[in-house]
Amino acid sequence: MFDIKSSDNEYVAGTYGRFPIEIVSGKGSLVYDANGKEYIDMGSGIGVTAFGLCDDEWVKATSQQLATLQHMSNLYYTEPCAKLAKLLCEKTGLKKVFFGNSGAEANECAIKVARKYASEKKGDDYFTIITLKNSFHGRTITTLSATGQDHFHKLFNPLTDGFIHAEAGNIAQLNELVDNNKVAGIMLECVQGEGGVIPLSADYVKAVAEIANKNDIVLIIDEVQTGNGRTGKLYSYMHFGINPDVVTTAKGLGGGLPIGACLMGEKVKDVLGKGDHGSTYGGNPVCCAGAVNIISRIDDKLLQSVSAKSEYIFNALSGQEGIESVSGMGLIIGIKTAKPVAEVMKYCMDNGVLCLTAKDKLRLLPALNIPQEVLEKAIEIIKQACK
Ligand SMILES: *Cc1c(COP(=O)(O)O)cnc(C)c1O
Repeated sequence: MFDIKSSDNEYVAGTYGRFPIEIVSGKGSLVYDANGKEYIDMGSGIGVTAFGLCDDEWVKATSQQLATLQHMSNLYYTEPCAKLAKLLCEKTGLKKVFFGNSGAEANECAIKVARKYASEKKGDDYFTIITLKNSFHGRTITTLSATGQDHFHKLFNPLTDGFIHAEAGNIAQLNELVDNNKVAGIMLECVQGEGGVIPLSADYVKAVAEIANKNDIVLIIDEVQTGNGRTGKLYSYMHFGINPDVVTTAKGLGGGLPIGACLMGEKVKDVLGKGDHGSTYGGNPVCCAGAVNIISRIDDKLLQSVSAKSEYIFNALSGQEGIESVSGMGLIIGIKTAKPVAEVMKYCMDNGVLCLTAKDKLRLLPALNIPQEVLEKAIEIIKQACK
């Protein structure tokens, strides 16, 4: 018999610390391992399977497209790509979209947009991008440079030049950095996901938007993890009444297929011209058909249910034995546990619940449509695990 674990350990690059479970199939918010054990999926592939695993409507949309046209080069027009771009622009008020294949690529595109805009408008030396300490923006060399966590940087130097990291919440410091550097862009996550599920304060987000606007700096909101309904709005910036110039997203967008998008607003919509950027797979018809299905189903009713489930989780867990704090927004939730988080994770896993971590916290990113009774069952086990 083919031994998954030993072959993976021998032949797959050792970049992941995998749990000792072989997942073979899934349906909705339930997944099954090679022994037939059932688990409730509270991580949805790190916020990817927005409507759960093998959702019927999504499977139909993507498999129909798969059997019609699986790929075409960007030398030609294809319908799913055009449809998705139109849908995203209509739902956000942003004006144009560039499609790539991941969150890191969406952020790479955003950085190129900010730098080209500033270079043309203010001069070649306006290339600095300000991001936040404790942020996460990706694993490519440039998005690593953008990521404000030193432990990701070690041993990969030299990183891309021109990134500085501001302290989240410190408006005075941001003003100072803007005055003392030639800044092209400011990039941030409204809820720092990998950083420990930490929402920024509304005052700070609004102040950043004002500073960017006043100084004609490109404001980039990284919605790779917080986007596509995750926080209870289509994109998390919509909670704050701001109008970013650029919004990047990926994870939940394709419902489980690799796609990233860089959405550009009025100010920067024509910055990228022919030959300025590209991606062989970008706008892939199957991925776009999946994303059209996902985005068109994120309506007010779904978003209200995301907020209601969020409230349920906050109420059920806050103040419980062994739970020090609960943070987040919508269905991106961080739980600071008294016990070491690895212990909590293991109890959950043994008892049929798959969770994630973010720094020293337990992180929950369930499917947006997780059934209430399944959610309640998972939360009960998490409560037990924390005791
Ligand atoms: C996951 C993530 C990324 C990187 O996305 P990839 O698809 O892994 O390249 C970038 N930014 C944020 C906020 C993320 O959560």
